[in-house]
Amino acid sequence: MSLNSSCLSKNYFSKPRVQFCFIFLLWMLLLPVRSLFASPIDGIVGKISQTDYTGYVEDLQDFQTRYYTTQGNLDALKYIRDTFFGFGLDVSYDLFTYNGNSYNNVVATLPGKTHPEQVYIVGAHMDSTTFSNPTASAPGADDNASGMAAVLEMARAMVGYAFDATIKFFGFNLEEQGLRGSQAYAAKAKASGEQVLGMLNFDMIAYPGNSGAKNVFLAGDPNLVNAMEGNRLKYTNLTTTLNYSNLYGSDHYYFHSSFFPGSSSAFAIEAAPSSIPSHNPNYHQTTDTTAYLDFAYATDITRMGVATLAGLAGVIPEPSTLFCFLLGGLLLMVGSHGKKPQ
Ligand SMILES: [Zn+2]
Repeated sequence: MSLNSSCLSKNYFSKPRVQFCFIFLLWMLLLPVRSLFASPIDGIVGKISQTDYTGYVEDLQDFQTRYYTTQGNLDALKYIRDTFFGFGLDVSYDLFTYNGNSYNNVVATLPGKTHPEQVYIVGAHMDSTTFSNPTASAPGADDNASGMAAVLEMARAMVGYAFDATIKFFGFNLEEQGLRGSQAYAAKAKASGEQVLGMLNFDMIAYPGNSGAKNVFLAGDPNLVNAMEGNRLKYTNLTTTLNYSNLYGSDHYYFHSSFFPGSSSAFAIEAAPSSIPSHNPNYHQTTDTTAYLDFAYATDITRMGVATLAGLAGVIPEPSTLFCFLLGGLLLMVGSHGKKPQ
């Protein structure tokens, strides 16, 4: 917002301009009052863009395959790293070994302002596979470009806001080989005493099916499942199926409180209301492409996720509230002083 300096010029103090200035100043002075009712989380959720989200899914699909042994996997890692970096985040590769070979997750960090030692993780697996031809064709649009794009879009929306705790945005590798990347990081964090207080995982979130129901399945530690459920109600028109157990099958698993004391984890996945998660017929097929996805549905799940993450990490209200209050007061004083009799 920029101020029109002509508002304060004595030469232009005609009556409509005075009225405009006073309305503007009143608006400024009321900002702190308005801020009491508008959560910064609303602002973060409002930044989530279906267009940007869709672009990330398409870009990840375009690597043809992100299977762990391929150049496509390395190129996708670099794409994710560069995208996080483009948001202004610190980003690095996180090395781990599997079967004697070295691989990387990718992680971007938004340091906490009040308790930087406390960490919340949001993650998704960036690798893909197919039953028939994983080294040549594994577009993995739903599994799991859809989850990785959610993590990228959450990062984009949260940059520029301050949080009490540190947030780490992860692209996990080798999930399709048995949760290898997330298992390695959870073990490392646990061994080093990192205070991972919560981990949210997104895996296959863009195929609601043909029933017309837009249902999301939320499972894991009750505190996180219930937090997501609250934001699902507040920010989306989705329906949910809730489950409070630690289901194997994706990257939240080793961050669950039963494996990692002090931590907690939960995940979101597409689901028909009456079915188990993941009813996508293209699962691990070369046909898992954007043609079958519902981006509005996936964007809603992303909104639910970012609101939950922002709440957990403790978003700090913007200092601009105080600044605007002081500036508004100052301008009111100057304006009153400079007003000529008509
Ligand atoms: Zn998956």
